[in-house]
Amino acid sequence: MRRLILIKYASEIFLKGLNRNKFERKLKKNIARKLHGIEFEFVEDMSRWFIASENLDEVANRVKKVFGVKEICFVTEIESDFDKIKELAFEKVKASGAKTFKIETNRANKDFNMESVEVSREVGAHVLINYDGELSVKMKNPECMVKVEIRKKAYVWTLGDVVKGEGGMPYGVNGSTMLMLSGGIDSPVAGYMMARRGVELHCVYYHSHPYTSERAKDKVKDLAKVLATYTEKVNLYVVPFTDIQMSIIEKCREDELTIIMRRFMMRVACTLAEEKGIQSVTTGESIGQVASQTMEGLIVSNDVADRPVFRPLISMDKEDIMDISRDIETYDISIRPYEDCCTIFVPKHPKTKPVLEEIKKSESSLDCEALVKDAIENMEVYTF
Ligand code: ATP
Ligand code: MG
Repeated sequence: MRRLILIKYASEIFLKGLNRNKFERKLKKNIARKLHGIEFEFVEDMSRWFIASENLDEVANRVKKVFGVKEICFVTEIESDFDKIKELAFEKVKASGAKTFKIETNRANKDFNMESVEVSREVGAHVLINYDGELSVKMKNPECMVKVEIRKKAYVWTLGDVVKGEGGMPYGVNGSTMLMLSGGIDSPVAGYMMARRGVELHCVYYHSHPYTSERAKDKVKDLAKVLATYTEKVNLYVVPFTDIQMSIIEKCREDELTIIMRRFMMRVACTLAEEKGIQSVTTGESIGQVASQTMEGLIVSNDVADRPVFRPLISMDKEDIMDISRDIETYDISIRPYEDCCTIFVPKHPKTKPVLEEIKKSESSLDCEALVKDAIENMEVYTF
């Protein structure tokens, strides 16, 4: 008899047909990577995954953070012997102190000579007969639900032994994206949401030295570090943005600064993505949240993109975004009070309904290509 962790992954992965093998391999690899430094044994029993380790609690803490893991259960492994199953189920109910219980069986091993329903019924009867005290079977919402799985070995656990995982898809199975990561609350959440769906993250931050301080940059680095705890290594490209902003201020109308700046952010992200073989761009924009995030604003900044731009927060309320940022532990970093490049160059009355043709005309006095190229040539790269 030993304690193991049973890993359940998202049902979506089951449904992937030919891709299922690829997804499973990736998930296994991601789990192993997360467990780096801990001694553990990966156990497979009729396509169920288990982990054995002396340090099961730490294993659980790490594995529940792996994308694609729906839940983990602390189970007890025994021989698939009916008497042993009965005894263990009894112990579990007794230990729970519950007054109502239910046994639920899943028999995957057809060599085991009893059917699932029969096992549940017989085990239930055994528990009732031997229990000293008030106890009854309850089909709906019992206080103690005992799960029995019969494979080559048998596994028994209760719902109290179940821990929720991150869900989502294995990191890295769904292409790649260049996240525009600012020091704010939204963009780290947007990055997390893409990564959670299996999309590989790369980050770009526009830094306006000396208008934004080193501490603003450190804040973004810290955010990238937190994101990296969910992913594999994350590259953060820090692109100098001051020259671009100065050129815009010099050559364009004040009320168009923000939208033109956003078009440059998009251009740089796309150019960098192209250079690094990254397929898409992600931002933390949410419709209506600020003056530049109107439908017209999004249309005008999207116009310069040469690849899909994902905005996973587009329809979310700020409160809900903040809840996620607390859950994923980026909130406390995001609210550190350092200015970002956008707050420094905000016009008094930004255009909320920019018109594409007018903006293009204003931009015609700028050498966009050279500005973008120059910024990228002078970027710094950090890896977390
Ligand atoms: P956030 O909370 O993510 O900073 P925000 O509500 O402050 O978003 P904006 O400042 O309009 O909104 O930025 C919208 C999006 O543009 C951000 O979510 C981010 O993806 C990107 N962005 C803004 N500033 C920067 C920056 N300095 N570097 C990289 N990306 C940025
Ligand atoms: Mg911001």
